[in-house]
Amino acid sequence: MADTASAPSSFLAAAQELQPDTIKLRRAIHEEPELGLDTPKTLEKVKAALAGLPLTLKEARSCTGMIAILDGAQSGRSVLLRGDMDALPMPEDAPVNFKSKIQGAMHACGHDAHTSMLVSAAKILCARRDQIAGRVLFMFQPGEEGHFGAKFMLEEGLLNDPAPDAAFALHITPNAPAGIVTAKAGPMMASADQFQLVVRGQGGHASMPHLAIDPIPVACEIVTAIQAFITRRIDAFDPAIFTVTTMNAGTTYNVIGESVRMSGTMRAISEATRKKLHDGVARVAENIARAHDCTAEVNIDAGFPVTINDARAVSLVERAVRAELGDSAFIRANAPVMGAEDFSYVLQKTPGAMSFLGVCPEGQDFRSACPCHSNKMELNEAAMAAGVATHCATAESFLRDGLPS
Ligand SMILES: [Zn+2]
Ligand SMILES: [Zn+2]
Repeated sequence: MADTASAPSSFLAAAQELQPDTIKLRRAIHEEPELGLDTPKTLEKVKAALAGLPLTLKEARSCTGMIAILDGAQSGRSVLLRGDMDALPMPEDAPVNFKSKIQGAMHACGHDAHTSMLVSAAKILCARRDQIAGRVLFMFQPGEEGHFGAKFMLEEGLLNDPAPDAAFALHITPNAPAGIVTAKAGPMMASADQFQLVVRGQGGHASMPHLAIDPIPVACEIVTAIQAFITRRIDAFDPAIFTVTTMNAGTTYNVIGESVRMSGTMRAISEATRKKLHDGVARVAENIARAHDCTAEVNIDAGFPVTINDARAVSLVERAVRAELGDSAFIRANAPVMGAEDFSYVLQKTPGAMSFLGVCPEGQDFRSACPCHSNKMELNEAAMAAGVATHCATAESFLRDGLPS
């Protein structure tokens, strides 16, 4: 039997011992969500929690990001663990007693838990500094929700000196059983690009459409033609998504308006398909518009690239999780998630893996639990211990053995 007076032998036991701290910090961050690249109060909470630990802190200038560096007792490899800190601009309706106190902001993507789990992992690894050969970089980043926080930190050179040899991140999901870690090699998350599409015709009287050029049926035809383009021209095993989320035209019942404005999102899981999608959407829209004497203009705001997991890094996470949390705690995902992540920029530079941690609330079915970005999203805090242990076991395994061949 383990001696209860000594330090816990496993990372999971250490994480469980720290659970009150992990939960307390998560709830404090949850109550005071901050948006975008500017998360100073969250960063202060992180710094307060890390105070006194043997860490070198490097703060970003372009945003409120920070790298906390743990130098082990001996030199060796260098590994990065990432936690994001920003919330979403939306109201909170989750039935919790530590609800957001900031109107119109909610931690609905679990970044509060990511930050808190990373802080606890730092505490545990710092306590084992004597046994560590190498370096651990704890990356606390703002601006994941479409604000390019990771890209800003990379561009500032925060990940250059020291540069990590491998990088890992965990993202919670209520739509997987609590405590289960899941990942796959290759594309793990999609690219995400926004588009605006304007179809222009000629205004006129609704009773005399032949004297006007009505852009509405043309816009509708473009939307359906693009769906046909996707099913006929895009490889079914390298898929793409084109979703129109807004469509605005007209002012009243008897006037043909001059234009239709649409916007939405485009997703892909390879850069080749992403480019084919961009080109195809513009080509189809412009040529259908031309066929009806209209014009179409497509503008694309490029968002995050595809998040691509290194196969060796996924194997490392799989082995580390199975050894630490049990054989059934890791499940190979069979498909990517069509959401996007700016950890993709880190993985473009450094081999690594982004994994998901199941946090389905107690008593709920993970298939129907409110997902990330829901105003009612809840997470099972007990599963955070598994996340903390996963961070620690992954870092330890990489520092000891490197990536498996
Ligand atoms: Zn999100
Ligand atoms: Zn997220």
